[in-house]
Amino acid sequence: MTASPIWHPFTQHALEPDMRRIRAAEGAWLEADDGQRIFDGVSSWWVITHGHRYPKIIASMREQAEALDQVIFAGFTHAPAEAVAAGLLKIVPPGLSHVFFSDSGSTSVEVALKMALGYWKNIGAKRTRILALEHGYHGDTIGTMSAGARGVFNAAYEPLLFEVGRIPYPKPHHAQPTFDALEIACRKGDVAAFICEPLVLGAGGMLFYDADTLKEMHRICKAHDVLFIADEVMTCFGRTGTVFACEQAGISPDILCVAKGLTGGSIPLAVTLSTTAIYDAHLSKDRSRTFFHSSSYTANPIACAAAAANLEIWRTEPVLERILALSQNQALCLNELQTDPRFASLRQLGTISAFELADLQPGYLADVALKLRARLLERGVLLRPLGSTVYIMPPYCTTKDELRFVYNALSEAVDEVLA
Ligand code: PLP
Repeated sequence: MTASPIWHPFTQHALEPDMRRIRAAEGAWLEADDGQRIFDGVSSWWVITHGHRYPKIIASMREQAEALDQVIFAGFTHAPAEAVAAGLLKIVPPGLSHVFFSDSGSTSVEVALKMALGYWKNIGAKRTRILALEHGYHGDTIGTMSAGARGVFNAAYEPLLFEVGRIPYPKPHHAQPTFDALEIACRKGDVAAFICEPLVLGAGGMLFYDADTLKEMHRICKAHDVLFIADEVMTCFGRTGTVFACEQAGISPDILCVAKGLTGGSIPLAVTLSTTAIYDAHLSKDRSRTFFHSSSYTANPIACAAAAANLEIWRTEPVLERILALSQNQALCLNELQTDPRFASLRQLGTISAFELADLQPGYLADVALKLRARLLERGVLLRPLGSTVYIMPPYCTTKDELRFVYNALSEAVDEVLA
């Protein structure tokens, strides 16, 4: 077979020359070309919520494709986009009133940053600085890399990244340094916005923090008129146990980024929601105050039909009950590892479990991640450890037996890797 010309994302081809070819998916499972069934323990990069090829979502996309595949979204609108916007406004934290479409998590965050800067410019205030949490991840475009943690991922692009005020990650039971740093930075009066991933810093290592901390960070920002951007690209649609993670802190961000699970994970679509104040700052007969952002496929009708079906599923099916059952099963499995010396820092947030492989070199480039991935794949499980941090983030349809299968495979694979 000739080598593929494809350059894969986040892949070092010199270490991983061969990509598994996947031909089908259903529920929590992928099916490889050779017939192997592989459990999707990372929800295909955190996007799949109800399960692969969820029938109502597939049917909705199919029906939409028969009527309208794509239309320019400036000067035009369409029913699926209107349904998504109206449906979202019913379930997002109160105070958000406008919905801007784009197509990935990164673009939803770029849009958020631009909205924040545009707001301050249009109301005539000189606030241009962005604050972000240490270990944060917001995407791989230049703007989102700037807001995210610096490291091996973006060292080559550093000269292009803009400077961001870094607020320490709020360690469990030790969040005061975070509050102090945020307070001091906000007090300077030049901060446009603070961006954070509510309750869990995902790519930064599945670092959790509690709802009270989120609430306090929000309070500090509000006390200083700093816009609060909640990046719920990963946490939206149930991942942390509630539809949005912000709900657990009872906060309403000024700007909310939503992507991944918006379409149940079936097709790319993202939105950035804003308050009326931010929208109104751009509303003017003066065209220079327009919000200048678009992409060719903004609010693609087929993607919107998938999102509309997803919203309907949340309205009519017991999704939160399924999430609760999965969360309880995660807790049971994690509990069995409590006394296992191979695992440390066992933690859980809603449907997500995470832990460290004890006594191993930490960091994303730790060799163990690749080896563990390979051993797991042999056993029919897809996990992508972040260095020595292992996490399991399965689709909500995952049964107790399937989850046990994953933990058993993990235990065997860890034995082999550590041997
Ligand atoms: N923000 C967060 C919190 C994420 O976890 C991710 C992706 O993992 C992104 C933004 C970027 O999303 P995308 O990969 O869809 O561009």
